[in-house]
Amino acid sequence: MIRTRFAPSPTGHVHIGNMRAAIYNWLYARHHGGQFLLRMEDTDRERSTPEAVQTVLDAMDWLGLDTDGNPVYQSQRREAHLAAAEQLLADGHAYKSDKGGTGRGEAVVFRMPGSDMSFADGVKGTLTKKAEHLQDFVIVRSDGSPVFHLANVVDDISMQVTDVIRGDDHVENTFRHLALYQALGAPVPKFAHLPMIVNAQGKPYSKRDGAAFVGDFRAGGYLAEALFNYLVLLGWSPGDDREVFTRPELIEAFSLDRVQSSAAQFDWKKFEWMNGEHLRALPRDVHRAQYIQAIPNAQADAEYLDAVITVMEERIKRWEDIPAMAGFFFTDDYAYDEAAVQKRLHKEGALDLLAALEAAYAALPDFTAESAEQALRQLAEERGVKPADLIHPVRIAVSGIPQGPSLFHMLAVLGRDRVLKRMRRTREKFC
Ligand code: GLU
Repeated sequence: MIRTRFAPSPTGHVHIGNMRAAIYNWLYARHHGGQFLLRMEDTDRERSTPEAVQTVLDAMDWLGLDTDGNPVYQSQRREAHLAAAEQLLADGHAYKSDKGGTGRGEAVVFRMPGSDMSFADGVKGTLTKKAEHLQDFVIVRSDGSPVFHLANVVDDISMQVTDVIRGDDHVENTFRHLALYQALGAPVPKFAHLPMIVNAQGKPYSKRDGAAFVGDFRAGGYLAEALFNYLVLLGWSPGDDREVFTRPELIEAFSLDRVQSSAAQFDWKKFEWMNGEHLRALPRDVHRAQYIQAIPNAQADAEYLDAVITVMEERIKRWEDIPAMAGFFFTDDYAYDEAAVQKRLHKEGALDLLAALEAAYAALPDFTAESAEQALRQLAEERGVKPADLIHPVRIAVSGIPQGPSLFHMLAVLGRDRVLKRMRRTREKFC
């Protein structure tokens, strides 16, 4: 049976690169009907506080990464690590050394086999290292504490991990780990090393590039499903042009052999688009509840609220956008964007055009998106101006802001009464 694991070192933050490794391990296990395990590599007592451990658990919970069995805490496995070191000493695979001659006690040093080593990486292909570049290394410090390499391998053996999927910052370590598996007489798992997530400049993606930790995305109002989907696509592709996936679809489609070996660039625009797509896929009730929470009087008219949701769907990329982008639908007391007023309304003739459009709209037999558009274009032609000379002022007049959904659909949703009232009020305000 396939058994994968996520083995984070809790630091208080969970970087999206680590979380992507967790997600790939989870998907791989779920795809194959295997198990996904969790091991806290919490031996750094200063950083691995209970809060830091909880941060990892919360991030996994938020992203829906359920684990099989209880988490293993590496800090509690010290005896097993030291027993393995004893075995390696007894078998001649390790020796004691007081290298620096510090007199503080002897470290246990692992003896590399002295031959070239290679392994077939699931993402990078065959990787090889020459014997002369494979030096002996400490597995137990002179203070008696086991080193990462020993603990990591001993725990993976005891957890019967079959596939180690992790960041490619561990490629170099893997040669040492292989030698440890062999010396301990344990079956060697398959390894797959994931390329880094980088920013637009090709540098490691960090806090300076925007949200870098799972908690930042959660606090920013993004959807777990969207982050999950986006991180999966950051370094993997399904082989066709699908991008928006449900979780069952991802479990079905995921495979390691389509993981790319080059670095994956985090693209904020694309991520926000992805969030919007997942938002849109949520049931209408969820949208209604979010609008009402953001704008309490959105509750007053259910039909109007539904019309607003429909026309705003293409624009809202996260729930936090609702007040600023859709607030004007629910109040006549909306704020005017100063720069937009300056540019579009304080422009020669703009208010006259607005008055003429108001009259044309008042005279329409029916006020719909189509008739509102037709009337505007006809007026533009009569006055010898561009349609944009009317489109921008009317948008600002009725919403206060220069960007929004398709203008004519927005006008239709607002309805003629509101539109005429707002146009008049705007003209009076800025004349
Ligand atoms: N604690 C290590 C890390 O977070 C584990 C690496 C591994 O998956 O083996 O980088």
